[in-house]
Amino acid sequence: MSEYFSNIKIGATTIATGMGITLKHFFNAVKRKGDAGIDDADYFRQVDGLCTLQYPKEVIPTPPHGRYRLYVNIDDCIGCAQCERACPVECITIETIKTTSDDLAVCGKTSGGQQKRMWVPVFDIDTAKCMTCGICVSVCPTDCIYHTLVADFSEFNVKNMLYHFGNLSKFETEAKKKKLAEQQAQAAKEKAAAGAAPKPGAPVAKPAPKAAPASQQNEGQESA
Ligand code: SF4
Ligand code: SF4
Repeated sequence: MSEYFSNIKIGATTIATGMGITLKHFFNAVKRKGDAGIDDADYFRQVDGLCTLQYPKEVIPTPPHGRYRLYVNIDDCIGCAQCERACPVECITIETIKTTSDDLAVCGKTSGGQQKRMWVPVFDIDTAKCMTCGICVSVCPTDCIYHTLVADFSEFNVKNMLYHFGNLSKFETEAKKKKLAEQQAQAAKEKAAAGAAPKPGAPVAKPAPKAAPASQQNEGQESA
């Protein structure tokens, strides 16, 4: 009989202890760990309070040295394609058009003062493939491709993960290609004409001796 009441006592004590812990956490839940901020040295030492955040209304800030979504400042891009070649997962696609001589001023210079010699109609980064390794950033000679602190850029449609940074419209691209082809054709024509014309100071080729009339040739043969 005494064992019977002892078991009831143990059960009641266990329930009371459990409920005490539950109520303690219940009342502590008015506190938020997020209130301290992720940058706070004590953030991960906090025992009490809710650790979940009401995302996306509440977001833990990304660390300033983090590597997240890439961005290309296309105004500073010289179209060297080093980033494209260096990318281990081939998620960068670049197409360039050589600038014609009369377009150099329009093409402009980088913020570092370097003359740009390439139009970059296509500069796509497939962020669905990008593993944010940062190799493209490290090889860029003008520092125009870099990581941003944008960490959440999820999409319902994977096609929207393809980011375009090109600096020409379709119409402009065709016009620039046509202009370059015309200039190259003109240059080839001028080169061919220069090659055909005698160089100044070069020995003038003597005209080939005229062939003797057929009657004279016959005379010579007969006398022989
Ligand atoms: S961060 Fe790495 S994977 Fe992403 S585009 Fe640059 S080189 Fe490619
Ligand atoms: S390495 Fe830099 S400058 Fe060269 S194509 Fe890439 S982004 Fe442009």
